[in-house]
Amino acid sequence: MRLVLMGPPGVGKGTQATRLKDHYGLVHLSTGDILRQEVAAKTDLGLRSKEFIDHGHLVPDEILLDMMENRLRQPDCQKGYLLDGFPRTIPQAKGLEIILQRLNQNLDAVISLTADEQELIQRLVLRGKTSGRSDDTPEVIKKRQRVYWEATAPLLEFYRQKGLLKEVDGTGSVSEITERIIKTLES
Ligand code: AMP
Repeated sequence: MRLVLMGPPGVGKGTQATRLKDHYGLVHLSTGDILRQEVAAKTDLGLRSKEFIDHGHLVPDEILLDMMENRLRQPDCQKGYLLDGFPRTIPQAKGLEIILQRLNQNLDAVISLTADEQELIQRLVLRGKTSGRSDDTPEVIKKRQRVYWEATAPLLEFYRQKGLLKEVDGTGSVSEITERIIKTLES
């Protein structure tokens, strides 16, 4: 199975991705995690991405597309994968289509987790106290929310038109949300 998990910052994508990965035996590819590892290791890719991440801006599409094409070609991705935090823009979604064509693969579904925006900001401010993430400060959180609605939300329509979009209520307990996602995927 090949899935995309979408939703505004703080909606719990990472938590749900881990659970879905275990349930379906998929590789979990979080572009945020991959980029943070590159930054920590001070690789060329990390050095080119750090400023964007720290300011809540998106890392340029070409960087993401190269990075993801390399990753999706790795043998472990043959068993199926869950994309978390990618694609984030229309050019990334179109670039992903080209990559998938080259790999002779299709997406099975795009799950969009939904929740109230104010609640999300509060959740992220709380997470920022313990996450150690350089971009979990109130100012950068607001910026990341804006970027989501401007650059990423248009993808919902893109995938709706392709018949791939499945919207799932992202409020409630962690296990309730997982159940809801699995039910939606299997309906
Ligand atoms: P996340 O962990 O998904 O919230 O991502 C943290 C940060 O990494 C984002 O605010 C962006 O700066 C960068 N990032 C992650 N994924 C992408 C992507 N698909 N396109 C551009 N930037 C990204």
